[in-house]
Amino acid sequence: MKKVNNIAVLTSGGDAPGMNAAIRAVVRTGIYHQLNVFGVMYGYKGMLTGEIFPMESKSVANIIQRGGTVLKTARCKEFYEPEGRKKAYENLKKFGIDGLVVIGGDGSFKGAQKFSQEFDIPCIGLPGTIDKDIAGTDFTIGFDTAVNTAVEAIDKIRDTADAHDRLFIIEVMGRDAGYIALHSGIATGAEHILIPEHKTNIDDVIDHLTANERRSKMVNLIVVAEGDEFGGADEVARHVKERMPQLDTRVTVLGHIQRGGSPTCLDRLVASRMGYAAVDALLNGTTNVMVGIVNNEIQFTPLDKAVKAKQQIDPEWLKIVKILAS
Ligand code: ATP
Repeated sequence: MKKVNNIAVLTSGGDAPGMNAAIRAVVRTGIYHQLNVFGVMYGYKGMLTGEIFPMESKSVANIIQRGGTVLKTARCKEFYEPEGRKKAYENLKKFGIDGLVVIGGDGSFKGAQKFSQEFDIPCIGLPGTIDKDIAGTDFTIGFDTAVNTAVEAIDKIRDTADAHDRLFIIEVMGRDAGYIALHSGIATGAEHILIPEHKTNIDDVIDHLTANERRSKMVNLIVVAEGDEFGGADEVARHVKERMPQLDTRVTVLGHIQRGGSPTCLDRLVASRMGYAAVDALLNGTTNVMVGIVNNEIQFTPLDKAVKAKQQIDPEWLKIVKILAS
């Protein structure tokens, strides 16, 4: 087993709240084990441009509660090409870096997988994405914060919906995964939740809204995942307005507020535990895996299997939504 002495950490792809807590865990665990720890700015781009710097314990002071990422993040076209990865390797070698922790999504893991195979640098991935769409883990860093942000916003929308007897159609993030919509919709008592994992019959939605109108239930919330089959909240609103022009229907797209803000306790715990496990893995010679948490245990998944995956959504949840909104 090759001994690791100098490790680097970077954040790549889309940012997610809790990435700072993960960076902190990697740096402090590394220092605890007497490793030299380096930070790489702007993900793989920083590996190519050589924006690499030594980190100390105090480099990560006062960041556990901050959203975003102090190491910044970026997407990097050159890293897709062998020449780009070679340049990145040469820069890591200048600092003697022999282990890498990549906090990002499945694209970042694909890059890490190629890189480690070409240059024999062990890489460990940590799932950092608000979408919770990666195979091999029950949690991703940032999901819980994004959901809680959505819940807080939808609660506020409910107040104004109630004051004006309005139907609000609220679009949340998640790309082609419906977890943010499902969790935030259930937690805010939405009448309908439209997610890509489940086909929605718009006639059922209209029938339900009509029944609500008959019994003078005027506050209605519909939560739509941005990747739903209709193409987002505006399209859903168009269908509803066509069929029920008498309803006062409004659309709110929550957008990027779901990416920012102070990470929740759960995201800080998940990030801290995963960051700690990543360094442990490098020291134990475990390479080219993503750290996940499954059934409350740390589980490693080979980087090439830590792909974008739609986790199963139990149909029971949708039944619960229907019953509770009746
Ligand atoms: P998010 O889930 O937020 O989109 P991600 O990690 O999936 O995060 P990507 O843009 O797919 O985001 O990937 C981040 C970076 O990883 C890319 O800009 C590129 O530098 C590198 N990368 C992605 N896929 C590959 C690949 N197949 N080969 C080499 N590098 C890759």
